[in-house]
Amino acid sequence: MASDITRLGVDVKWQDLTLGCTIVGRGTSESFNTGEWRTDTPLFILEKCKQCLLCAPACPDSAIPVANGKRGEFDLDHCKGCGICEKACPFDAIKMLKGER
Ligand code: SF4
Ligand code: SF4
Repeated sequence: MASDITRLGVDVKWQDLTLGCTIVGRGTSESFNTGEWRTDTPLFILEKCKQCLLCAPACPDSAIPVANGKRGEFDLDHCKGCGICEKACPFDAIKMLKGER
């Protein structure tokens, strides 16, 4: 059984899974690309964005990076496609596209 969380992934053999698939490490969320099982995909429409930053804290996966007071492109490695950001944006600068892209 693996206790090193960095050894776990989609190619791991069942013998190396942790008991009950528990996460035994900590501070591991960045190393897991949860966006691999994304359902739909958000599209960022830069021209419509007013940089109000309402979308960033609404994202449950912290998949909207903010730097120097501005939001960046979606972090699709961690976005799961829930669509909350689209609802949070008052300027229609986010559009959810069907399926994984
Ligand atoms: S679709 Fe959901 S997970 Fe992806 S960026 Fe928007 S709020 Fe975050
Ligand atoms: S909520 Fe919309 S307008 Fe505001 S920063 Fe996010 S994408 Fe831009």
